[in-house]
Amino acid sequence: MHDTRVFTGFEIAERIYKQLKRRVAALGRSPRCALLMDADNAGAAAYARRLSEAAIAAGVEILTAPYAKDLQSLCRQLEGSRHENAIDAVIPLYPLPPIINREEVARLIGAGKDVDGLHPMNAGLVALGAGASRAAATAKACVLVLEDVFGSLRGVDVTVVGASIIVGRPLALMLMDQLATVTVCHEATRDLATHTAKADAIISATGVPGLIKAEHIRQGSVLIDVGITRTEHGLVGDVDLASVAGKASLVTHVPDGVGPVTTACLLENIVTAAEAA
Ligand code: NAD
Repeated sequence: MHDTRVFTGFEIAERIYKQLKRRVAALGRSPRCALLMDADNAGAAAYARRLSEAAIAAGVEILTAPYAKDLQSLCRQLEGSRHENAIDAVIPLYPLPPIINREEVARLIGAGKDVDGLHPMNAGLVALGAGASRAAATAKACVLVLEDVFGSLRGVDVTVVGASIIVGRPLALMLMDQLATVTVCHEATRDLATHTAKADAIISATGVPGLIKAEHIRQGSVLIDVGITRTEHGLVGDVDLASVAGKASLVTHVPDGVGPVTTACLLENIVTAAEAA
């Protein structure tokens, strides 16, 4: 029987902010990032508020604007931000407007101002193991949390549940770069427990509340819960906390586990973009 530790990401985030303050001071100006969003989406609005507050700690300026409503204006807005010299980075916040697809958004903002692994160039660098300085922030955050828990990830068995472009895929690649042994599961995986129960660590990023239960884990597993689902009882993750209590050695808090580290990683990518501008 394990005491299950509930992990929050504030200390890791604080360490990143300390480094960022030094880098911003050396840069001699505040990096500026345009944050485009659907202002009517409560989740996006809450995320924008958290990012803007955290940006102050890092010395980064966030300029929030709503997405333009029609396709022509939206394309002009996205392309305009690519050519705007006073802006170092552009974050098109999810959900993207339904009138445009992700590939087109990435093309319009360009690789240089993408700071969340959206552009094929930045995603490709991650795939080649050639640099993660603009990789998807959530994937970077998961690697940092695992390194904080395990130290070296060499030879650690990690099962990633969820294979999306913004979390699971880049994360699997980045974990391989750390020489972890990686298994990736998704909605078509036939017997999830077969793949998760052998892992030292499970990272779940599906948005399916309560998906990971005691029968999916082995004694002492480390559980990184990326999932965030809004319910009438508040925000819930992918891990069924009541079920895994006493069996997992560690589970990350939702939303204060991976969340604060993701925010810090996104701000780190913005500072990198400003340094390269
Ligand atoms: P997505 O819908 O793009 O991808 C979900 C993935 O989960 C897919 O690969 C799908 O095949 C898989 N999946 C779905 N049901 C499954 C099941 N029953 N068993 C196994 N795999 C299953 O979602 P996303 O954008 O990657 O986000 C996933 C979750 O992570 C959401 O809850 C989102 O809110 C959260 N999220 C959190 C952060 C953070 O910083 N904490 C950042 C991004 C996303």
